[in-house]
Amino acid sequence: MAIMNENYSNLKESYLFSQIAAKVATYEKEHPDKKIIRMGIGDVTLPLAKVVVNAMKKAVEEMGVRETFRGYGPEQGYDFLHEALVKYYTKIGVHLETSEIFISDGAKSDCGNITDIFSDLNTILVPDPVYPVYVDTNIMRGRKIVYIQGTPENNFLPMPDNNIVADVIYLCSPNNPTGAAYTKEQLEEWVAYALKNDSVILYDAAYEAFITNPDIPRSIYVVEDAKKCAIELCSLSKTAGFTGTRCGYTVVPHALKRKSGNGTLMELNKMWLRRQTTKFNGVPYIIQRGAEAVFSEEGIKECGEILEFYRENARIMMATLDKKGIKYFGGIYSPYIWLQCPNGMSSWEFFDYLLETLAIVGTPGAGFGTMGEKYLRLTAFGSREGTIEAMQRIDKSL
Ligand code: PLP
Repeated sequence: MAIMNENYSNLKESYLFSQIAAKVATYEKEHPDKKIIRMGIGDVTLPLAKVVVNAMKKAVEEMGVRETFRGYGPEQGYDFLHEALVKYYTKIGVHLETSEIFISDGAKSDCGNITDIFSDLNTILVPDPVYPVYVDTNIMRGRKIVYIQGTPENNFLPMPDNNIVADVIYLCSPNNPTGAAYTKEQLEEWVAYALKNDSVILYDAAYEAFITNPDIPRSIYVVEDAKKCAIELCSLSKTAGFTGTRCGYTVVPHALKRKSGNGTLMELNKMWLRRQTTKFNGVPYIIQRGAEAVFSEEGIKECGEILEFYRENARIMMATLDKKGIKYFGGIYSPYIWLQCPNGMSSWEFFDYLLETLAIVGTPGAGFGTMGEKYLRLTAFGSREGTIEAMQRIDKSL
């Protein structure tokens, strides 16, 4: 008799995006004349950079020729991409070895899969509000989760609480959904806390490319000794519009070691390599060539222009919110703007209000945790025209 994992029955149904879609569909049906502006889902809209497309085309050609055809590649990624990433990190003052970088099909998979190398006895620390994948992947393993609160008082950047002892800590900076980004000093506090407790930080840097201020870390490894306590997860989804193309990478430093349940000192890099070589067969060669192009000089320039387009959308949004006196977080180092719902409305009430009176779709903050109850997330990933029009509607009516 097969016995199933009972932890799955502890997962809350994820109604968020289906509920939004249902409400938008009803509105659309009832108001066919209204132009709906969608600022809810965190997906990019601009196409891939030319240099990336050309690199992938070239790789496709190679695959069609016997001499350059490639079959299975290294599970942890090709060295040409590791080397491109080592160079990319060097520019921000971080020195990695190629064997510390693991290429994957995206940060979502790695966020979930990395849980394989940790015992289920660990207590997991999760900031609220949060990218829901951190919570659900640990519920699936039946782990104890404790929350720390992101609040307007801490600018949605919760700091370590010495009364809470946690073994695995999720940090996301710049944050989804709040757009808030930790300073180096704040990350130093987290690293000190993790080292003191022998914890491991899982640092999600999926939005690092949005950071333009050299004082805001793009990697946790700019903090001294972070390699002794942190794994960094990253993605090309937002950096280079790879949400549909699929490529990410995870850094597991050689210096990161922790004891197993029976007291053996384990190297996390070796464990992750073993996990990946057992359960994963690598990212397609064509995609990795496209990813390599992202980190070339030309790629950084072209992708930078795309990021700048989204940043400008965010600036347009922030200018309107400032003018209207609506409080918000994020937007500066992030495509996300986290609005405080006006007049004490709940996040779903404000969602309904925006949809029904202004035909604008956001994402209710409640979908990211209890601390999101009075907030709504808007994204800067839309068209310029749509962003401007949405802000004109807000300017006139809110
Ligand atoms: N981490 C965060 C914080 C995200 O917001 C997302 C996607 O929205 C991901 C990871 C997943 O990225 P990927 O597309 O690489 O799976």
